[in-house]
Amino acid sequence: MDKGLSQLGCVVIASGVGNTELQVQVMHDLRVTGFSGTPSFLMMLIKKAESMGYNFHNDFSLKIAYLSAEPVPPSMKKVFEEEYGINAGESYGTAELGLLGYGCPAKSGMHVPEEIILEIVDPATGKQLPSGDMGEVVITSLDKTLPIIRIGTGDLSYYTDEPCLCGRTSPRLVRIAGRVGNVVKVRGMFIQPKQVEELVASLPEICDFQMVVSRNGPRDDLIFKVAVEESCKNPSGVCEELGNKFQDICRVKIDSIQIVPKGSLSKESKRMVDNRNWD
Ligand SMILES: [Zn+2]
Repeated sequence: MDKGLSQLGCVVIASGVGNTELQVQVMHDLRVTGFSGTPSFLMMLIKKAESMGYNFHNDFSLKIAYLSAEPVPPSMKKVFEEEYGINAGESYGTAELGLLGYGCPAKSGMHVPEEIILEIVDPATGKQLPSGDMGEVVITSLDKTLPIIRIGTGDLSYYTDEPCLCGRTSPRLVRIAGRVGNVVKVRGMFIQPKQVEELVASLPEICDFQMVVSRNGPRDDLIFKVAVEESCKNPSGVCEELGNKFQDICRVKIDSIQIVPKGSLSKESKRMVDNRNWD
């Protein structure tokens, strides 16, 4: 993104997540016109600006947003465009493979870049599916430095071959519909069930747990319910340790850890619950 934008003559200001107030100030003082990042972080910046007393529409220069790393709910896109006058585009990619789909002005799906081979396959058999059928996104990249043959991204999608209104002729991914298997993505980071189970197993005083992801406005909310052994002398200390370890390994902060009575999490209850809805 950085290189591409620089070649277009843009000045790129690199920043990460966190330190929201400072980022709002930078965005305001330098009259930033474009944003690239997650939709939920853009919404957080706007809400922060409003809580700092700004009128985002009048006091900021942001005109365009290129959103990725998490689904963009149509309702949120509408708020960006209609309430804040931001032209919101979308892209799809992974850290290993780079860009796999990019939005265009016609805003009807994401074009597949020419330098990769994208297949939609049946997750069970690995066999290719035709346009319109939902399956796993599988990528081949004949890059000279890092060639990759048929790597499954774990994302579910479907594509169309219909010509796009923008004039490009490449196939388009219509939308990313979810994940194959149990991996969940929280605030742009993947969380593997196995990773969490191993982490909890390293804290023997925790006898059971459940991780619940929900949406708190534009932000992913991550809650842990934990049951601790009766012999545990310092339950809040164990929770703190869980929080720190989780952040180190999964690189996402847990918003709250609730201690629940032992036995209240039944054997049938799922250990990772995703209550988010992306409408
Ligand atoms: Zn197009």
